Amino acid sequence: MPDASASTPLLEQYEGVKARYPGHLVLFRVGDFYETFGDDARLLSRELDVVLTARSPDTHGARTPMAGVPHHAVETYLGRLVRKGYKVALCDQVEDARFAKGLVRREVTRVVTPGTVVEDRILGGPDHNFLASLVDTGHGAGAFAAVDITTGEWFHGLGDGPGADGLLSAIAPFQPREILWNAGSSEPRGAALLTATRREFPSARLEPAPGPVTAGELPPSFPSGALASPLIDEADRRLVAYLRSTQPRMLPHLTLVERGPGGRRLVLDSKTLRHLEIRRPMNPDDPKGTTLFDAWDETVTAAGRRTLSFWLTNPLADVASIVERQDAVQSLVDRGASLEEIRSALGRIADLARIASRVAGRRVRPPELGGLRDGLAASTAVRSLLAERPLPSRLRAVSASIDPPAALVDLLATALPETLPPTDDAGELFRVGHAPEVDRWRAEEAAALAELADLERAEQQSSGIKGLKVGYNQVFGYYFEVTKPHLARVPAHFRRRQTVAQAERFTSDVLEELERRIREAREGARSAEASRWEEFLAQVDRHVGEVYRLARAIGELDALATFAHLAQTRGYVRPTVDDSTVLLVRDGRHPVLDRGLGSAFVPNDVELDAASDRLLVLTGPNMSGKSTYMRQVGLLVVLAQAGSFVPAKFARVGVVTQLFTRMGFTDEIGRGKSSFMVEMTEVAEILRAADARSLVLLDEVGRGTSTFDGLAIAWATLRHLHDATQARSILATHYHQLTELVRGLSAARNAHLAVREGADGIVFLHRLVPGSTDRSYGIHVARLAGIPEGVLLEAERLLKQLESEGVGTGATGKGRGRGPRYTQAVLLAGSAAEPDPLREELSAIDLDHLSPVEAHRRLGELRAKARAPRDAGGAEE
Ligand code: ADP
Ligand code: MG
Repeated sequence: MPDASASTPLLEQYEGVKARYPGHLVLFRVGDFYETFGDDARLLSRELDVVLTARSPDTHGARTPMAGVPHHAVETYLGRLVRKGYKVALCDQVEDARFAKGLVRREVTRVVTPGTVVEDRILGGPDHNFLASLVDTGHGAGAFAAVDITTGEWFHGLGDGPGADGLLSAIAPFQPREILWNAGSSEPRGAALLTATRREFPSARLEPAPGPVTAGELPPSFPSGALASPLIDEADRRLVAYLRSTQPRMLPHLTLVERGPGGRRLVLDSKTLRHLEIRRPMNPDDPKGTTLFDAWDETVTAAGRRTLSFWLTNPLADVASIVERQDAVQSLVDRGASLEEIRSALGRIADLARIASRVAGRRVRPPELGGLRDGLAASTAVRSLLAERPLPSRLRAVSASIDPPAALVDLLATALPETLPPTDDAGELFRVGHAPEVDRWRAEEAAALAELADLERAEQQSSGIKGLKVGYNQVFGYYFEVTKPHLARVPAHFRRRQTVAQAERFTSDVLEELERRIREAREGARSAEASRWEEFLAQVDRHVGEVYRLARAIGELDALATFAHLAQTRGYVRPTVDDSTVLLVRDGRHPVLDRGLGSAFVPNDVELDAASDRLLVLTGPNMSGKSTYMRQVGLLVVLAQAGSFVPAKFARVGVVTQLFTRMGFTDEIGRGKSSFMVEMTEVAEILRAADARSLVLLDEVGRGTSTFDGLAIAWATLRHLHDATQARSILATHYHQLTELVRGLSAARNAHLAVREGADGIVFLHRLVPGSTDRSYGIHVARLAGIPEGVLLEAERLLKQLESEGVGTGATGKGRGRGPRYTQAVLLAGSAAEPDPLREELSAIDLDHLSPVEAHRRLGELRAKARAPRDAGGAEE
């Protein structure tokens, strides 16, 4: 059974490779295919929708599942696998099958992971592609380093942000595609929410094994030793070690990028990024167009798109740098129509950083170098357009960096022909005159071909056969062809080579010599061109760092020009950003909804001041616009601090350093935690970390539990924010009772979103008005939602009955029958002058040192106490 015994060594070889690359999908080259076997074959077949077959029976008669992809299309498939988060090892045949004794030797020639690819076809788009390493010191703190090897940008810092997920919040804005964390410790909490690809580091069997990294191996721009913290150093070194084993050529080009002066930026924790839908929609199935980024992305370059994305997820928190960015935007706005000239010149610039990365990784396609050449020329044009007017400081810096390295411009201009071939093995890579050796071989080839034409003519004449032709085929090379009727006149020095249907083919000494010369000339040209190409790429490679710098400047200019363009075309205004704690907006609009709703969107004001008027409590029925309003406030702050102009008549933003949101439900609910527990954990983190420079947006606090607990917590939270934290805060609540209490607080206000009651139902006006409302219009909303009429009529009847019994009008109607009246009495009593033990106990709680579990227990006690005197009968629970 020759077949079966042949399959076994192959599978053994495959298993051997699998064992050395744990966690990787091994694509194993067999002939013209990359194959996978066993479970991986099933997986590949499922993920890529390729046919699952079986390899012939092995010695035990078992058939092994097998699935593969054709080698010429492997990049496309790699792209799909990598975007799904798989790590792939490509195992190639490293000796010629014809000369192999026994099994062909195979080795892994490439490891492709989501965070280390540079090819466009694998990346699938121009967005940043970060690889991050985390050094987790426990409790969510530590250090991180993040690198995008497709643009050369490296960031690092401490993950000392707020709450228990500081480290995660620090890297969330990078949206890393791949995360490494320290071996031995468990996966950082929540990392799975950020990316599909995570691995422990060092992976024991990484090849070559990542040894210790010496300081000299860090890219040159890095602060050495004393400057950076040891933790950050560690995070950097891990990335270096990992890159050294996967992408050794990239290292020298990577540049450390500062995230703004002193690294100060607006901290958006990972939840806020999601809740505000800055870059990704809450619901991944949402149609495009729901995120802030989607509404703002009118960039015209790939670099600009990345910059805009980065700015919106990493807004600044430093007045001077925000104003500097605004000045740049303003000066572009002031250019009027000529702004569009700059944008259209920018639009001609290819993704230079990516091309540079592919040069560094030697995975560049020739036409991309044409793109680099043209992009450098277009950059020069952009720079001269900029120079037409005086530049504010930020634009001066940008303009200074848009400075294509002359040596590179020169090299590309003299070396490359106007259009380049699609691949680097088809010839015609260089202009005539650039590579003398290539030219010499090409001239030799042309001369030999000319002699061939002469030879054909000479043989025709001497033999008198008019139809004698020189031809060529792959197998026999050049030949003379003579058709059957003329065979008698074939000259004596012709030697027969082949017979075809209507003719005979011949060769001769002269023809063979010419053929040898032509072949030699072609091979000479090809190898001379290949080695010149390699040299040429090495020459271009020297400028990769400069191209990265240029590309960053192009990205910055494009992002600034986009802000200016939006301001011009959508009438946005420049917000006043200062060091106050004011947040004042006139006729502000929701940046995203406003785009969809147009004039149907109702603008609203914002008036907050941490010093005097810091807390706003929003009531109002479902669907009245509470959540929209709160998101709008958050998004306007993000935009203002990113340097953008904003959709409003007027805006003043005292710089916010931390933005916290707690909105609706988060993904963790599906993971077995109760919604109340999740909510309390989030609120606890906020109360612990927020300060007077924060903006806190809490939507429906206490909703995850029954009325009493929820109300008590909502009240205590509100008091803490008002008295202790003193952050600018907006709370939306169903608990109408809270609004009574707010009246007793010096720096808090009630407001609600207006509703008009008409003859045939109610109309949501979405207009913010002072004061509270106690109407929930729940039945109206239920009708809108399609609850059957019979059920609604019964509900209306019940509601009337409850109201006439004087049960009170809890905003949600969720309260148990006696709930609202009773609770109000307790809490109102608490706010009166006489001492109340319950209130005292509540205010003595030290929230800073209270774990969520403890909080829950304490609440239980408080509730029991609260109920005890009046529920003496103990009829309930
Ligand atoms: P709530 O949180 O009070 O239940 P939402 O904020 O979810 O209400 O708003 C419900 C809907 O009302 C939104 O989907 C939007 O279509 C509309 N809406 C909200 N605010 C406005 C506004 N200012 N102008 C126009 N429509 C609005
Ligand atoms: Mg809501």
